[in-house]
Amino acid sequence: MTTTVYFNDRYTASAHAAEPTRKSGLIAATLGDHPEVRLADPAAHRDQALVHLAEVHDARYLEAIRTGEPFELAESQGFGWDPGIYTMAVEHAAGQVAAVNEVLTTGARIAGSLSSGQHHARRDEGVGFCTFNGLAASTGEAFRLGAERVLVLDFDAHGGGGTRSVTDPERVIQVDVTVSPFDLWEPTTANDHFELAEADDYLPAIDRALNHASGIGAVDLVIYNAGMDPVNARVGAAELAERERRVADWAATADVPVAYLLAGGYLWGGFDWDDIVALHRLTIDTFVN
Ligand SMILES: [Zn+2]
Repeated sequence: MTTTVYFNDRYTASAHAAEPTRKSGLIAATLGDHPEVRLADPAAHRDQALVHLAEVHDARYLEAIRTGEPFELAESQGFGWDPGIYTMAVEHAAGQVAAVNEVLTTGARIAGSLSSGQHHARRDEGVGFCTFNGLAASTGEAFRLGAERVLVLDFDAHGGGGTRSVTDPERVIQVDVTVSPFDLWEPTTANDHFELAEADDYLPAIDRALNHASGIGAVDLVIYNAGMDPVNARVGAAELAERERRVADWAATADVPVAYLLAGGYLWGGFDWDDIVALHRLTIDTFVN
């Protein structure tokens, strides 16, 4: 059984060129002959993604991204506005909604989307290169399909405070290991878990987080925000490869489906585009059905 990974050309529709708006195309270009991965177009899930985005974001913010007005709000995530920003951000959300839909309706245990730029976005503004919180929108798809509890595993280098601020902690459990003090958040339930880890304690921190996740009770789905930006905080690529194996093994043992997305991966610190592609391929090559 191949693993479906969602992508189409709208993921790179913005004129604004940055890692979150460009890397998906470079990664997709390496997947055409992948023996275990099937690229799929999420366009059929776009309308449903817009419904869920309207549950997550207020109408004034959605309209600002669509129209460019008001200017300050349209560029609140840190990008120069152009009409393709809306197209891009909606499609990244559609891909994540499609991945959730896939694992909850087809029997596939794993699906992914080459989406990024999501977990910092707030209800009424973008933050930290994140325009729309498609990750949060995709929890809406899980609940529409009958899920009762969703686990968000957020191992991006930065905190997922945006996701926490726009989801219900009783239904969306968030387990977050960061290595950078950006967008930190405080757990308000015993189920949530947050750790700002040191680079030399990274894999033990991942183990602590997964151990915690084993104790929260049944969940219907894991959404895995598989950021590769811990490399910018001195976590090595080999450790991130090991992280992916541990997360995949944990999910297989727990027998819970996984819908993953890419999250952070940047050129900062001397990395080039090939490095970014290779890092994200660690997730794609590990998370296969
Ligand atoms: Zn990040």
